Amino acid sequence: MSQFDFDLFVIGAGSGGVRAARMAAGMGVRVAIAEDRYMGGTCVNVGCVPKKLYVYASHYAESFHEAAGFGLIDASYQFDWPTLRDNKKQEISRLNGIYANLLKNSGCTLIDGRATLEGPNAVRVGEQVFTAERILIATGGWPFVPDIPGKEHILTSNEVFDLETFPSRVLVVGGGYIAVEFAGIFAGLGAQTDLVYRGDLFLRGFDQEVRAFTSQEVAKKGVNLRFNTDIASITKCADGRLDVVFNDGAQEMVDAVMYATGRVPNTQGLGLDALGVNLSRKGAIQVDDLFQTNLPSIYAVGDVIDRVQLTPVALAEGMALVKRLYGGAETNVDYNLIPTAVFCQPNIGTVGLSEEEACKVYPNLDVYRSEFRAMKHTLSGSQERTLMKLLVDRDTDRVVGAHMVGAEAGEIIQGIAIAMKAGATKAMFDATIGIHPTAAEEFVTMR
Ligand code: FAD
Ligand code: NDP
Repeated sequence: MSQFDFDLFVIGAGSGGVRAARMAAGMGVRVAIAEDRYMGGTCVNVGCVPKKLYVYASHYAESFHEAAGFGLIDASYQFDWPTLRDNKKQEISRLNGIYANLLKNSGCTLIDGRATLEGPNAVRVGEQVFTAERILIATGGWPFVPDIPGKEHILTSNEVFDLETFPSRVLVVGGGYIAVEFAGIFAGLGAQTDLVYRGDLFLRGFDQEVRAFTSQEVAKKGVNLRFNTDIASITKCADGRLDVVFNDGAQEMVDAVMYATGRVPNTQGLGLDALGVNLSRKGAIQVDDLFQTNLPSIYAVGDVIDRVQLTPVALAEGMALVKRLYGGAETNVDYNLIPTAVFCQPNIGTVGLSEEEACKVYPNLDVYRSEFRAMKHTLSGSQERTLMKLLVDRDTDRVVGAHMVGAEAGEIIQGIAIAMKAGATKAMFDATIGIHPTAAEEFVTMR
């Protein structure tokens, strides 16, 4: 008999925690998982899933307009926010139930409540203390909001999904994934939307040409881009509207201000300091290649270690850890060639190096690019354009970067990522027969 209540105690039932808990339980490990807010974590409740549902919604408005060119001319519609919000809620509740059942059916013990560390092998939830041979911290991240006067009036991604009323006039602050995606959602659903970013051009770190191209396309969809500016203060007026002052002195009344200025690891109050668990300067739990902290019984995966804040990465980390601890496999997570999409309108899909990064690594870099108006838009009337880029190391002929801005870019780049992971050369892309007529076939016809 083990001296512990459980073999593995997982704190946080988000992407990483649920995957690790289910896999371990499936291997016969005695697993407990504590969750204090929502089954499925950020991704299911206030992240990827509701975001993508709202992105779908925001596309319908332009689809209605575009349909006229195809002969579908009675395109009168009205947007009802409560319908979208409440249907979304229902779907998320369904997913919450599925997650709970998956965990129970795999044999995990579900514990409802906030967990804190009591020792290297002990976790407190409310009045109860549980012991475990190993503890996995998968507590995710939390929106970061800069300290400006009036910050209590702003929305973050935590609140924005369930607004009582849909704003007519909104400012979205930030230049990362969430800001760009939400500017598209608000604008697509009919709000007068400004994206406010402190730098020259949003999406720092992405391919420069992709950033510039996306800014043109996003602007065409009606988002007012305000770069090189920031908000100095926000005051709430008697009518509930917000009086926003910018750092250049400009002033404006709006219905809502959403901040999407990054996320910080969710470690506060966990009891890490008292135990001496090493944290980075940004508060991320420091782990080695095998997700072990400096305390041998304590592990961490997902956003709380702040490596790559993406659901599939949290899943991969959780699986690698469990396979190593309980499956005897020496599995590491390969952080190379992680494909990713920004679900703005149109989408960005990207894998591998940006042109700027690739130039530094490969002295003989060939850049293939294609820019066009998709066939659909010859009749739809939309001025949307598509950009595709392939970066090729001439010395080896290997494709080292693939980028797309256009409809379904995320769907298309997933397949390209498999090819790149398999070491595909440009010659292999060229030898592949295209699927006609698609936009994706451009990736095999670029010369
Ligand atoms: P989380 O999913 O955040 O789970 C952590 C869980 O721990 C939470 O449920 C929390 O309540 C719980 N918890 C925290 N502290 C405690 C405690 N002390 N006791 C008990 N429970 C606790 N990624 C993508 O790949 N694609 C996307 O399209 C995408 N869109 C996103 C959109 C938004 C708006 C946001 C905010 C994020 C998005 N992400 C996306 C990122 C993705 O959601 C995260 O990378 C992922 O959820 C991280 O998983 P995790 O398991 O590390 O943490
Ligand atoms: P990001 O880290 O992507 O972007 C943060 C943005 O906020 C940057 O533009 C940054 O500017 C700006 N910023 C930071 N601090 C301040 C400040 N004090 N004042 C003004 N601006 C500031 O964070 P997000 O919140 O957009 O998203 C968090 C993470 O979630 C993403 O990095 C991604 O990993 C994940 N995610 C993934 C999605 C997907 O896969 N589709 C969708 C949504 C989220 P600067 O560049 O100048 O530093």
